[in-house]
Amino acid sequence: MTVPLRPELVGLEPYGAPQYNVRARLNVNENPYSPPNAVVDAISTAVHKAAEGLNRYPDREFAALRADLVHYLAVESTAGFLRAENIWAANGSNEVMLHLHQAFGGPGRKVLSFAPTYSMYPEYSRDTVTDYVTLPRRADFGIDVPAAVEAIRELQPSLVLLASPNNPTGTALPLDDTRAIYAATEAVREGCVLVIDEAYAEFRRRGVASAISLIPELPNLAVSRTMSKAFALAGGRLGYLAASAEVVNALRIVRLPYHLSSVTQAVARAALAHFRQLQAQVHEIRAERDDTVDWLREQGFTVADTDANFALFGPFADREKVFKGLLERGVLIRVTGPEGWLRVSIGTAQEMALFRNALLEVTG
Ligand SMILES: *Cc1c(COP(=O)(O)O)cnc(C)c1O
Repeated sequence: MTVPLRPELVGLEPYGAPQYNVRARLNVNENPYSPPNAVVDAISTAVHKAAEGLNRYPDREFAALRADLVHYLAVESTAGFLRAENIWAANGSNEVMLHLHQAFGGPGRKVLSFAPTYSMYPEYSRDTVTDYVTLPRRADFGIDVPAAVEAIRELQPSLVLLASPNNPTGTALPLDDTRAIYAATEAVREGCVLVIDEAYAEFRRRGVASAISLIPELPNLAVSRTMSKAFALAGGRLGYLAASAEVVNALRIVRLPYHLSSVTQAVARAALAHFRQLQAQVHEIRAERDDTVDWLREQGFTVADTDANFALFGPFADREKVFKGLLERGVLIRVTGPEGWLRVSIGTAQEMALFRNALLEVTG
């Protein structure tokens, strides 16, 4: 007897970025700094309080958490126009994305995205039996807007997915491009939701805008965020999005009952109450990123412009060999992006020094 695995899943491997205990873990874009002690204490106290009520199901609508997210976005993205009804949250933005596909994708429907991009996008499509279609990005990893507009007209997708800053390239999408692509989605006959995945938004350089500012103008725009990166809370599993109440209400239909545990809600709320302390290192990480990019370019590598906490660099005739050489020296990075490129997450100054030394040894 074999298990009746869906034929399209036969032979596939589950998502599995390595989790090795090496000196410099620079492969999944985590924040390298542990939460500060004061925040750890606040989280512990909040979890203790939540534990006293664990005999009850959590607040399905996570009203208090939504209010905290409204407050955070009002401060971080000057988005004072958002209300609780504009906020959705789930166990990581990966689950938010799955909800978007469950609500707006499905058999006979198409998702359009722009490669190279986040490796999970085709998996949400596969799991919801939606067609995943990509257009290539330009050589500078920006979006070819006229080609995107044309593809939207031809394909009539029900979802368009754009990561900004994009993973693995670090490329941010200018607001004018977002507006132009949205305008094309408005002509999709059965309706289309434009999703901007802003997992790395807090790392953007000065002067780079968040698409959240467009929400009042664009009712079918959804902007997804996460506490996994800038918040140093990847283990907490809290992602969220901001959109019109109509988009959010559609996601409420497909979520599992009580999908956000009381413990998750308590952890996220305690972290949000301390967001400035948790994000104290964001400036440092950005500075370290810019230094890393400059250094790589001085060594003669090509580096994609990045607004995220990682950099895509190359080219290498044998990138696997470079990856392995670094790993032998205790530096774990990621083989991703177009052939010949590698991605390094920005760690502490010490970790980046290890990375630079190891890279010189391996390529020298
Ligand atoms: C890391 C990342 C996320 C975050 O996923 P979580 O489930 O919130 O941890 C989302 N989108 C992109 C493009 C990412 O790189």
